[in-house]
Amino acid sequence: MIRMLLKTSLPHCLTASLLCLLVSCGPSAQKPSLHTFSGPTMGTNYTVKVVAEHLDDEHRAALQKLIQATLAEVNAEMSHYLGDSELSLLNRWTSDEPYSISQEMFEVLDHALRTSQLTGGAFDITVGPLVDAWGFGPPGESTEPPDQRIIDRLLESTGWEFLELLPDGPAVRKLIPQLSLDLSAIAKGFGVDQVAQALDSEGVEHYMVEVGGEVRTRGSNPNGNAWRIAIEKPDSNQRALQVVIPLKNLSMATSGDYRNYYEEGGERISHSIDPRTGWPIKHSMASVSVIHEECVQADAFATALLVLGPEGYDLAEELGLAAYFLARQPDGEFVERITTAFSALMEN
Ligand code: ADP
Ligand code: MG
Repeated sequence: MIRMLLKTSLPHCLTASLLCLLVSCGPSAQKPSLHTFSGPTMGTNYTVKVVAEHLDDEHRAALQKLIQATLAEVNAEMSHYLGDSELSLLNRWTSDEPYSISQEMFEVLDHALRTSQLTGGAFDITVGPLVDAWGFGPPGESTEPPDQRIIDRLLESTGWEFLELLPDGPAVRKLIPQLSLDLSAIAKGFGVDQVAQALDSEGVEHYMVEVGGEVRTRGSNPNGNAWRIAIEKPDSNQRALQVVIPLKNLSMATSGDYRNYYEEGGERISHSIDPRTGWPIKHSMASVSVIHEECVQADAFATALLVLGPEGYDLAEELGLAAYFLARQPDGEFVERITTAFSALMEN
């Protein structure tokens, strides 16, 4: 559905002419240059870098329009903040009858439920009401923990197993009517994949797509090497690089406790909620980065492994995931733990 809308919103000549411009055009080709597109989306920002031999104003504008339209479509489906998004309408549906959803929503919910299953419920999109109660949702900022009785009550209507996916339709069924979903931990990754797919179908062979820190790459950077993507030091007082990872035809997503949090009685209250307790994570793991082919998967696994903390490392090894963990030490320094699959990628 997204693709059809996008195609009709673009100039008819775009596909063929862009293809010629963006792929290598034989021996007379000039050195390719880097074209950057950026803007706000999903409560954060996006940056797309395209390597192309030449891009005139018209084609640049068409690409910008394609990227924006793709992200706007994902936002209109998955936003927790837009009152009329597909997700908000689904959240207002308080019946246990099947509810029709778009193919894109089906895809994201399917990824979400598979991740829940693989991570013993550490990833759970039904935590929405708990996220709100802890002050990290659309109702607005709060810097006070909720009463334990509220947490206990909300936990009763939390649980990914209360959501049933019906591929025919497609549709979903809420097994408890008050079930409410939050796709914030997966929608950015999905948005990145959708932009990548849109660029693929325009014949773009070398790009890097990033939304709020979740990244997907294809081909090479302007020097002909793998794209180099930085993992930040999970330090809220400064922006510094921890390590730079070469990425070729892969995605990487990072979840951390260092940007979206407040402090209460000297404790860090972060936006990552442990669905087993209804409380924000309490361990020393400060950030987890996951490399995967699809950004939607990297995004969901990064959140899940961060929720699990030290246990997440063992699970990542068991599942063969490429993951990079940073744990906060009492002296404020960070110690890294790298899974076997991640080390193998760094050696390439
Ligand atoms: P970021 O948005 O900073 O990239 P994440 O991808 O980890 O970080 O998403 C965090 C968001 O996901 C939270 O703000 C909340 O809305 C939601 N969330 C919190 N805990 C969970 C969880 N256990 N499973 C799924 N989503 C969660
Ligand atoms: Mg995530």
